Amino acid sequence: MRTNFSATQLNDPALAAAEHELRACVHCGICTATCPTYVLLGDELDGPRGRIQLIQGMLESGAAPSAKVVTHIDRCLSCMACVSACPSGVNYPRLIDEARAHIEETYRRPWRDVLLRRALGFVLPRRWLLRWALTTARVAARFSWLVPEPAQAALIVANGLPRPAPAKHFAKTVAAQGVQERRIALHAGCVQEVIAPSITAAAIRVLTRFGAQVTIVEGSGCCGSLNHHLGETAAFARHANALIKDIGDAPFDAIATTASGCGATVRDYGFLLKGSKVAAQASEIGAKVRDICDVLLDLPLASPHSVPKLRVAYHAACSLTHGMRQDAAASSILTKLGFDVVTPSDTQCCGSAGVYNVLQPAIADELQARKAQALAALNADVIVTGNIGCLMQIASAVRTPVVHVVELIDWATGGPQPEALRMRLSV
Ligand code: SF4
Ligand code: SF4
Repeated sequence: MRTNFSATQLNDPALAAAEHELRACVHCGICTATCPTYVLLGDELDGPRGRIQLIQGMLESGAAPSAKVVTHIDRCLSCMACVSACPSGVNYPRLIDEARAHIEETYRRPWRDVLLRRALGFVLPRRWLLRWALTTARVAARFSWLVPEPAQAALIVANGLPRPAPAKHFAKTVAAQGVQERRIALHAGCVQEVIAPSITAAAIRVLTRFGAQVTIVEGSGCCGSLNHHLGETAAFARHANALIKDIGDAPFDAIATTASGCGATVRDYGFLLKGSKVAAQASEIGAKVRDICDVLLDLPLASPHSVPKLRVAYHAACSLTHGMRQDAAASSILTKLGFDVVTPSDTQCCGSAGVYNVLQPAIADELQARKAQALAALNADVIVTGNIGCLMQIASAVRTPVVHVVELIDWATGGPQPEALRMRLSV
């Protein structure tokens, strides 16, 4: 596509990167049919090609966008299905990220929306505050009719989550059992550690059981992904810098993540922190970040006992499929361990998408229902996924137990049975 930016505008590296992607787009529309919001709403402006046009107009003008433009941009899930579909290799995150930052800088949202977005960006990355907020939300949900509409969705989502788990403190470093073959940094995030710390515990057990020394890295307790998706660039940089400092320059073989939403963002640190003091280190870290299952592929996993031949439905998170592009490892490991792995016909986003289910509840509910229906059709004994957001979104819509894939791998290789599965198998 032709672009019309001024030389001054192109001095801004983020705008220059966006312009590069705009030029790469040939406007073919091949991505359109893969976009969940286009499929659902049927509006060209709710698909990638339409959004790219809106973003171009907004960035070239440099002015505050109209409410209509913001609506269509806000409806983007950042699922990145369009990136995988695009034959021209358009790096859509460079466009949507820049668009969100521009909206955040120039557009005046209604105060209730601002309040909700600020609250999400401030509370979610802070475990202690999130723990308190989730507990309070359970009580406040009874009086949800008293709160303004945008916050009602937050209350409904919070009330549907499990009770916050008691704070769990992991040792900074856990030694490998037997001969140490690998040195792995394991990223502990924000929301997951509050709702399901059992996932990190399972990951530590599997890694150490098969010869990896594990060092927990957490920085401020958040990688900055949530703030990044809200267009809050300063808050993102603060969290990212703290995580980079915590990882330091220790010679880890890999930095493993059990939340692919976080993994996809940390992998992009090199670009997102370009021009900063930590740019070089950020690039090195980004290159080493791998999903936990991708890391486990390198280890000699084996089952010490025969596990029941369960039918396992695997939901690959968008951030793992289209962001990290490491979605094949989980199925491969589970099959090797003796499970019967099946995948749903609906491969689109489940509607979780960070805080999307709070900010865009109507679309998120629709996507959740579609996903639940596709998973239910598989008649599985258990559903697994590799991202806490998807896990919670799916669990609140199905009767089948939903667990993190690493919890199932842990069980199959000698660890405890996941709690959700224990209840199901004892029935
Ligand atoms: S498929 Fe790629 S080139 Fe075609 S419209 Fe979509 S982003 Fe542009
Ligand atoms: S990121 Fe997902 S929702 Fe957004 S335009 Fe691309 S396919 Fe559509």
